[in-house]
Amino acid sequence: MRILLHACCGPCSTTCLEDLLGQGHEVTLFYSDSNIYPYEEFEKRGAYLKQVAEHYHVDYVIDSWDHEDWLDAVSKVDGYQGMGEGLGRCSACFSFNLKRAEKWAKEHGFDGFATTLTVSRFKNSSQIFESAKDLDGFLCMDFKKHDGFSRSCRLARELGLYRQSYCGCEFSRH
Ligand code: SF4
Repeated sequence: MRILLHACCGPCSTTCLEDLLGQGHEVTLFYSDSNIYPYEEFEKRGAYLKQVAEHYHVDYVIDSWDHEDWLDAVSKVDGYQGMGEGLGRCSACFSFNLKRAEKWAKEHGFDGFATTLTVSRFKNSSQIFESAKDLDGFLCMDFKKHDGFSRSCRLARELGLYRQSYCGCEFSRH
């Protein structure tokens, strides 16, 4: 399959790429994360994502950073600013980014799209799948399987990747 892989960052992309490439898929990384704040952080994570793409010899796309649009989307959730992680704001955040992946995948003839978000032990894969359930071509791939998160940590260390200390948006910065 020709898969567009929505990617949140370089470290999480490592395991997902190894799994998909190992299964014989053709993969393009899609860095579409308008949730990340500030812009300098978006750029920094993007630079390490490029490093990962080059390491695995896959194409990558850097989408535009439309943080105001993202804020507009999550602000429809009551109490979004003070909300903890894993609740409604995060569902809206997943939907926002994955809708963009859906659009890109459709416009560029991919067979389907998946997301690296499911590799993190800090994220509930069922919540991610629920947020994407109405999207065409979404592949419910849970990259946590087969010790995916630990492997991504080890690969990130081996490749010297930057590992962020917060999820991404301003509300998750402590
Ligand atoms: S905490 Fe993470 S998943 Fe939740 S809204 Fe912020 S950036 Fe998105």
